[in-house]
Amino acid sequence: MRHIMINDYLKNEFGEKVYRLSINGGMTCPNRDGKLDTRGCIFCSAGGSGDFATPATLSITEQIETAKERIVAKAPKCRKFIAYFQAYTNTYGSVDYLRKIFTEAINHPDVVILSIATRPDCLPAEVLNLLEELNQIKPVWVELGLQSIHEPSAKWM
Ligand code: SF4
Repeated sequence: MRHIMINDYLKNEFGEKVYRLSINGGMTCPNRDGKLDTRGCIFCSAGGSGDFATPATLSITEQIETAKERIVAKAPKCRKFIAYFQAYTNTYGSVDYLRKIFTEAINHPDVVILSIATRPDCLPAEVLNLLEELNQIKPVWVELGLQSIHEPSAKWM
């Protein structure tokens, strides 16, 4: 079986290196807000594993521009980006709110992929419909968090 590295795949698909921008959608998660627990996962930082993301107080466009500036300072030739909603559970909000922030990100001219980190129990049908709709504009990736592949570890956690 031939393994294709993600960077090679992106280069083939978009003709150049594609860089990831960490975005903060200003959400929380069921392991933190009391729906399932308040303590969070043991490996998760206080920032919801989104410590490199720009602050959620900025608009999505402002976050994209700020994150771009940071990357361009190191790699001046980069022009194409993945808008990566990284911090917390990024489909844990109303569909109207998700539509607003994801549409703003995907329509940014320098964004070629919308990537969303979330958990499987936070993907109701209406959110999946929204993602399917957005996927008609540009590719949408969904990253599902996995606590552990080992059943005893998962039970312990
Ligand atoms: S890893 Fe995900 S589910 Fe766990 S506390 Fe952090 S944001 Fe919540």
